[in-house]
Amino acid sequence: MDDRLFSSIDELLDYDKAHVWHPYASMPNDNLVFPVASARGTKLTLCDGRELVDGMSSWWAAIHGYNHPVLNRAVRDQLEKMSHVMFGGLTHEPAVRLAEKLVRLTPEPLQKVFFSDSGSVAVEVAIKMAIQYWFSRGDTRKQKLLAVQSGYHGDTFGAMSVCDPVAGMHRIFSGLLPEHHFAKAPPGGYDRPLEEEDLESFRSLMEAHSHEIAAVIIEPIVQGAGGMRFYSPEYLQRVRELCDRYDVLLIFDEIATGFGRTGKLFACEHAGVVPDIMCLGKALTGGYISLAATLATERVSDSIARGEHPVLMHGPTFMANPLACAVALASIDLLLKSDWEEKVARIEDELRRGLAPARSLPTVADVRVLGAIGVIELKRPVAMNPITADLVKRGVWLRPFGRLVYTMPPFIAETDEVELIATAMVEVVAVDVNFLK
Ligand SMILES: *Cc1c(COP(=O)(O)O)cnc(C)c1O
Repeated sequence: MDDRLFSSIDELLDYDKAHVWHPYASMPNDNLVFPVASARGTKLTLCDGRELVDGMSSWWAAIHGYNHPVLNRAVRDQLEKMSHVMFGGLTHEPAVRLAEKLVRLTPEPLQKVFFSDSGSVAVEVAIKMAIQYWFSRGDTRKQKLLAVQSGYHGDTFGAMSVCDPVAGMHRIFSGLLPEHHFAKAPPGGYDRPLEEEDLESFRSLMEAHSHEIAAVIIEPIVQGAGGMRFYSPEYLQRVRELCDRYDVLLIFDEIATGFGRTGKLFACEHAGVVPDIMCLGKALTGGYISLAATLATERVSDSIARGEHPVLMHGPTFMANPLACAVALASIDLLLKSDWEEKVARIEDELRRGLAPARSLPTVADVRVLGAIGVIELKRPVAMNPITADLVKRGVWLRPFGRLVYTMPPFIAETDEVELIATAMVEVVAVDVNFLK
């Protein structure tokens, strides 16, 4: 730190509060912000020396924990060669090798890879691909999306337009946002048998509007930031069938679920169904550097290529950044070489056991666990500042929102760490009823 400017952490925090925007925060920021000095393994070390067990994996991304020697080396080795070159007219080994790996790991029909710099952009690209697909086939009416309520797909305009229309930001930007169709959210519950009526809203929208729908976009099995909801694989199978029947493309947003989080490498494997377009991000680089990818089938790429406008209309400055590609390759290798399935299954058991006592609490509406995701849903929204401060006092880093206190720990979390996180979650919602709004 340059101590001419900031002579103490408090001064740094004052400046942060007054000048630096944080995610979904006001300016000046009235939320607590904790300064981190370093991070290693499952632990964040705050500037005052306190250590927190990380229950967030930095928003689903840091699946191997922090400061991992293998990932550090991958970045360092690549840095010695080049940190970045433009991707227009140039290519490089890390990008091609990563594309090959993603094509190999994702369901077989997904063959073509577009790299971008964040999940939201990967969703923008997916939407463009879908609309250009129909345009190239001479159908200019198919420009709408069909999404489901409680979904989350990112913060840029295209992505925002398919987020939940109530919880999302539609009202503020309504004049600018394209209007899409929204089916009722899939009914909650991974194991819940599907009733015919559960699909009614989705099916009737398809029936009425498929002539103008380019694609369905949905997060497979787990709806993340839109409510941490799990739904049945059968629902996803029926969505695929309906897309085929009504000639609509299917986009899976696996940005939160990809790379093992739900217990399968990709969440669509729970249902055994394959999308036409798939978005990846978050854990792709093990949480090191922002990178995302949009994969498409050959049917999609071929149709675009044969159209009146054969090039895909996108090309970010930092497309396929070599540092990000190199660390993504190392992260995926590390994941595949580890016994991640066992680890995630063990974390799932520990979360089930650890969170179970919350079920009987009067403040709690639901407790649910899938893979390395544990959720306590409350009857009322949490007051973020006091509940976060209490969790920090207990040595745990979590970021509750709305009515949700949830965790998705790094896969390297040990049993005692998962137990610490689960106990803290149960205790804050039990003891600190005042923390509810
Ligand atoms: C986080 C997320 C995004 C957006 O990714 P960013 O990298 O934050 O732009 C999109 N879709 C889903 C399902 C996500 O969880």
